[in-house]
Amino acid sequence: MHSEIQMGQNQLLSLSEEYLFSIDVVKHISLVYGDRTENIIKALKTPGSRYCIRVNTLKTDPNHLTRRLCDKGLRAECHPVISEAVFLPVEGPLDLPEMPKKIGADKYAAESVLQGAHLYAPGVTNCHGIKRGDLVLITDRYGQPAGAGIARMSETEILRYRKGLAVELTHPRYRIPCLRETEEFQKGLIYPQSFPAIVASHVLDPQPGETIVDMCAAPGGKTGHIAQLMHGKGLLIAIDRNQEKIADLSETVTRLGFQNVKLICQDARYLDINFPDLKADRVIIDPPCSAIGVRPKLFDHTKEAEIRALSEYQRQFIRVAAKIVKPNGIVVYSTCTITTNENEENLRYAYEDCGLEPEDTSFQYGSRGLEWVFGGARYAQRFDPDVHDSPGYCIARFRKTC
Ligand code: SAH
Repeated sequence: MHSEIQMGQNQLLSLSEEYLFSIDVVKHISLVYGDRTENIIKALKTPGSRYCIRVNTLKTDPNHLTRRLCDKGLRAECHPVISEAVFLPVEGPLDLPEMPKKIGADKYAAESVLQGAHLYAPGVTNCHGIKRGDLVLITDRYGQPAGAGIARMSETEILRYRKGLAVELTHPRYRIPCLRETEEFQKGLIYPQSFPAIVASHVLDPQPGETIVDMCAAPGGKTGHIAQLMHGKGLLIAIDRNQEKIADLSETVTRLGFQNVKLICQDARYLDINFPDLKADRVIIDPPCSAIGVRPKLFDHTKEAEIRALSEYQRQFIRVAAKIVKPNGIVVYSTCTITTNENEENLRYAYEDCGLEPEDTSFQYGSRGLEWVFGGARYAQRFDPDVHDSPGYCIARFRKTC
């Protein structure tokens, strides 16, 4: 059912002010979720109760890896069906101690601190009067607390050097297992990835020996997973427009030990022109999106115009995917956002303008897409932060019919 009229302007405004989400974002959430809007916003401000990683099945067995993590005192658990998805509990929100001083952090840094990261000098926005050894509360620009710790640099040092550890976190708001420093991560046995993102590669259902194109590949979460599912056989062409990200992705591919991945730095919107002979069995589109579903977030200022521009941008990938996929081939489209513009409206575009037929999938873990926007969205799945304990996400699968 269409929920637009359920929430009045005043209600939208008061939610916007209370939770520091732009009125446009609140409107989009309310359009989809109606009277669940406040719950959705609250959920987006937290990381959820579980943290998900993906096991690299080319290098290890998920049960073995899970036991290894449990031996280290972590409470790791495999998903009952998708066993390479392993969950670890998140603790929090934890109370923060009273601290005599405050230090300000930018959005990215404050949201990292919220999840247990230290604060580094480039992320500091306000450090007036801070001395080394001070006990400080780390806040975002609105004064929302992200964590507390001990200053390891003074105001002068932070402003002069602009790099290095500014505050060592002693009290996070949420305690999420930090796996990047572990041997398992360094050896490429695990990769942090949200559960819906793991589901997306299963919806694609890559087969060994096929030619698969990942149109927006960096940092390579799905690329790695798809390579795994192909058992190293066939060709996975991973495209990203950003040169630096391709360089990082190249490192990841090496660390994880994938041999059938070809990285290309390109604007994927012109693949059909630049590679006229390219014909893929399957294509995955994971385009830039408004990322409203990404959590935890302290605030979200996304504007209507950005959402509309992104929706248009995403359509350009869909159009090209439909051109480079073989007849009867598969296209999967996924976003980590909740807006209908970037999800169901674009699914309709794929169907009506690009000859892509929405198709059901056996990997259904979310709720159905919104049929009141586009009937074919019933085959798509949405992950809702309030009920699925995951980021907000949408995944759709299509078959090229003509
Ligand atoms: N699929 C990735 C996440 C993709 S995020 C994962 O699972 O890890 C979106 C990516 O699209 C970004 O890395 C961005 O650099 C890339 N991108 C944006 N515009 C692009 C374009 N025109 N062509 C190719 N890549 C693009």
